[in-house]
Amino acid sequence: EVNTKTNNYNIIISNNFDSLQEHLSKVGMDNKKVCIITDDNVSKLYLDNLCNIISKITDELSYLVIPHGEANKNLDTINTIYKKMIEEKLDRESYLIALGGGVTGDMVGYASATYMRGNKFIQIPTTLLSQVDSSIGGKTGVDFDGYKNIIGAFHQPELVYINTSTLMTLPKKEISAGMGEVIKHGLIASKEYFNYIRANSSKIMNLDNEIMEQLIYESCVIKSKVVSMDEKEKGVRATLNFGHTIGHAVERLFDFNLLHGECVGLGMVSAAYLSYLLKQIDSSELDDIKACIQSFDLPIKIDKLNELDIYNELYHDKKTKNNELNFILLNGVGSCEIRDDLDKEDIMKAIKYIL
Ligand code: NAD
Ligand code: ZN
Repeated sequence: EVNTKTNNYNIIISNNFDSLQEHLSKVGMDNKKVCIITDDNVSKLYLDNLCNIISKITDELSYLVIPHGEANKNLDTINTIYKKMIEEKLDRESYLIALGGGVTGDMVGYASATYMRGNKFIQIPTTLLSQVDSSIGGKTGVDFDGYKNIIGAFHQPELVYINTSTLMTLPKKEISAGMGEVIKHGLIASKEYFNYIRANSSKIMNLDNEIMEQLIYESCVIKSKVVSMDEKEKGVRATLNFGHTIGHAVERLFDFNLLHGECVGLGMVSAAYLSYLLKQIDSSELDDIKACIQSFDLPIKIDKLNELDIYNELYHDKKTKNNELNFILLNGVGSCEIRDDLDKEDIMKAIKYIL
């Protein structure tokens, strides 16, 4: 359950779509206008099945296939979605369904937030990253002028329905990338969960059904608790940015040619080292964190960049207010704090650590 000031909704975790129809009915979708939006990879895999299910509860069903990938997460694609919404005469009572990864979810959420000042939408996330992170919490938006997610709105979905079996068709590299955010959840919120992730790395990479359901459940609980406490990121929600300060800088310097989760992994190694320098974790904890990240085939070092470039890039983040850098540091594994008082020298050491 996610409880925010603007909406309360459920996250359903299943390994099939059997109960989807029932849950869509429960949120009030019967006989409403519904438009499924999905990308050109996911449409080939799951669109027919989803159309079959939804056509049982409404006759007014349409769909739109958008091009996949971060490069298409922009206002041009949003225009295409708006045009479809007008063509299908959708109104405030109509539903959009985001079927796909975080790119689809963020754009559909944004179109839903802004069309007629807001209609309803459902998240059916199909990547690990979107199942444990982006489909929950109502951050929606698009990239603009080279800036990631710079245009956006907070808009909560009516339901998040996770079918873990969709992960079977996802490339392994995308599973690894999703694990970047999962490891983050353990590190900032629960030592026990972090140890569970470490102990089960090979089962996770092989998508063991029971373990995946448990893992996704634990991550959803952590994410939804944080979001329920601080929907608009005035405080504690910022802890979800652990690993993202340096991670985002690396992501931009690589011109988005590394996956987001890979950059978050690097950022977490760097932030963990910074925590170690400030004596907030010990060397064995630092080693455990690196080993865990590596066990999911995520890099812990990169070449082709120099430390000053990364340092300067930190200031180009949209979250850098008044030229003040915010870092999330660990206070032991499973606990963290937000810091804006770090020395340049220490930050440079932490950057060097991943080069
Ligand atoms: P994505 O949506 O681009 O999906 C990755 C690739 O996998 C795509 O090519 C997609 O077509 C394909 N795909 C999706 N599901 C599949 C499946 N089941 N089988 C086979 N292929 C499949 O990327 P992502 O990693 O899911 O999401 C990244 C986006 O999420 C970024 O734009 C990021 O900014 C955003 N994000 C948002 C939040 C938030 O809170 N809103 C949080 C984290 C990340
Ligand atoms: Zn992230």
